[in-house]
Amino acid sequence: MNRKHFLKISSLGLTALSVNPQRSFAAADKPIVISTWDSGMAVNAAAWTILEKGGRALDAIEVGAISIENKIDCCVGLGGYPDRDGIVTLDACIMDEHSNCGAVAGMEDIKHPISVARKVMENSPHVLLVGNGAQQFALENGFSKEPKVLSKDAQNAYNDWLKKNNYKPEINIENKKPFGGPFAPVFFDDGTVNHDTMGLLAMDKKGNMSGGVTTSGMAFKVHGRVGDSPVIGAGLFVDNEIGCATSSGVGEEVIRICGTHLVVEFMRQGYSPENACRKAVERIVNRDKEKAKTLQVGFLAMSKKGEHGAYAIQKGFVYSLKTADENKIIKSKYIIE
Ligand code: ASP
Repeated sequence: MNRKHFLKISSLGLTALSVNPQRSFAAADKPIVISTWDSGMAVNAAAWTILEKGGRALDAIEVGAISIENKIDCCVGLGGYPDRDGIVTLDACIMDEHSNCGAVAGMEDIKHPISVARKVMENSPHVLLVGNGAQQFALENGFSKEPKVLSKDAQNAYNDWLKKNNYKPEINIENKKPFGGPFAPVFFDDGTVNHDTMGLLAMDKKGNMSGGVTTSGMAFKVHGRVGDSPVIGAGLFVDNEIGCATSSGVGEEVIRICGTHLVVEFMRQGYSPENACRKAVERIVNRDKEKAKTLQVGFLAMSKKGEHGAYAIQKGFVYSLKTADENKIIKSKYIIE
């Protein structure tokens, strides 16, 4: 393609967008915080204590994430489900209004990965630290090591999983397809899925945005596996001029399309948060429609105007919203019936 042809296409694209900017979705007054899943209600409440006082979105994100990492019988943090070897490994990242970011992945025995991620952002020249190195950095920065104990819920789920998968360490379990494939969500008997990542997006009174993600990752993953959650541009992206996005679901699918960066780029093109999320989900589904039936991915986004929206591959994804006037759970639309 020569430059002239390229410019012609670009200008056509711009005209089309200005005619049909696809902006229409729910806008909320700032401050505002949204987060993945219904467990986001409590997280939003914690974040709100900062936002309502006129505090910075970044601080609200950290406080919100800490609140769920504190819960021992929950879905993220050290109370989360372990990997296939029975070890809980944590992933987290944080990004502020200046595009500063920090992340940790595969970190063991540290209670607040979100705060370590923030320290990586603020106290190191790096963006992402992994495994033992992340833990060492945490210890050097005043965090302490917690005992390696699974929560009751996690231990029960793990025992159950071992039975169902007839798991023996010497067997190449990742080549099996116990519940829909090694990288597919694990569907439990009651129909729930093992996705619980907490992704939060906030805009403060000044209109600055930040985001964060904290998770124990996909349950029963291969030891050493890192999902989308701590990967900037995959599990989280913030562009303070345009908007921000986060994700939950099968991380590999999100990484493949640089999911949250893509969502923000769609918003830059004029799509509403919901439509930007839909277009990113479609990108995953259209790659392999059959495989998509076994996957769940949900994106959640907020624009600079405080519009918010989500979209998922399948039914079941929800997000929590908190503003001065609203405090509720919103069901995401989805593609596959
Ligand atoms: N996205 C997370 C991961 O792939 C899982 C989740 O959302 O629960 O690690």
